[in-house]
Amino acid sequence: MIAFDLETAIRRLRDLVEEARTVVPFTGAGISTECGIPDFRSPGGIWTKMRPIEFGDFVASQEARDESWRRRFAMEEQFGGAKPGRGHRALAALYKTGKIPGIITQNIDNLHQTSGFLPGDVVELHGNTTYATCLDCAKRYELAWIKERFAASGGQSPDCLSCGGYIKTATVSFGQAMPEAAMRRAQALAESCDVFMAIGSSLVVWPAAGFPLTAKRAGARLVIINREATEFDDIADLVIHDDIGAVLSPFIAH
Ligand code: NAD
Ligand code: ZN
Repeated sequence: MIAFDLETAIRRLRDLVEEARTVVPFTGAGISTECGIPDFRSPGGIWTKMRPIEFGDFVASQEARDESWRRRFAMEEQFGGAKPGRGHRALAALYKTGKIPGIITQNIDNLHQTSGFLPGDVVELHGNTTYATCLDCAKRYELAWIKERFAASGGQSPDCLSCGGYIKTATVSFGQAMPEAAMRRAQALAESCDVFMAIGSSLVVWPAAGFPLTAKRAGARLVIINREATEFDDIADLVIHDDIGAVLSPFIAH
């Protein structure tokens, strides 16, 4: 792997993007850190502070559900107002040119949609935390409604009005099945693009981390933009170990 200075790296990236008919971005928590949302695995990341609540615990205990919602409302106070960053805006600009048929994300923060992607073109591998659904009948609930019930009951998470099922943020927890349609769509996008850009992911969470490999095997050029090294750096065509905002801001439409 050859290390380029930032300017050269950006020029190479621009060339790859220009030559490509289709570009598929694959994003992780690193694209949202400049928006004030911490990632999981950087020093000071969320995992260094608290253990995740696994899906099995969520369905097994009211206490775990209450704790999970308590954390979610605390997060809302800290990150609820987060706005798209330079990385999000650059990808949205590229999307508007028609080069991006769909974006694959591990993020749950809805910021790709906020930045201009049509919801149908955002493939969310780990779901979305800005709304909730009933685990049994899939009825959608808004956080404000849940928060009101939660407060009125002294901190008990409410159950589904239609079927009594448990209401959970529309995210995929550890131990929960991956969304099949999203996995199929991500696979198809990875297999058919000319350039696959893994941005801000430590590439250690499986099965999501398999998509860069799938894309590379199917003949795409693989670009990795991440501050830290990843296990896939060796097979990538271009690796940029730098700040995502700095690397992608030249792609924001002027
Ligand atoms: P991760 O925390 O494992 O890795 C993030 C990577 O981004 C790190 O390697 C870090 O060095 C890099 N990074 C952080 N800020 C950067 C910047 N400004 N420029 C360049 N690189 C930067 O995240 P992951 O791979 O996405 O896996 C964590 C899982 O947690 C995801 O699957 C996702 O579901 C979830 N998550 C989502 C959010 C969110 O929605 N914003 C936040 C935290 C975690
Ligand atoms: Zn229900």
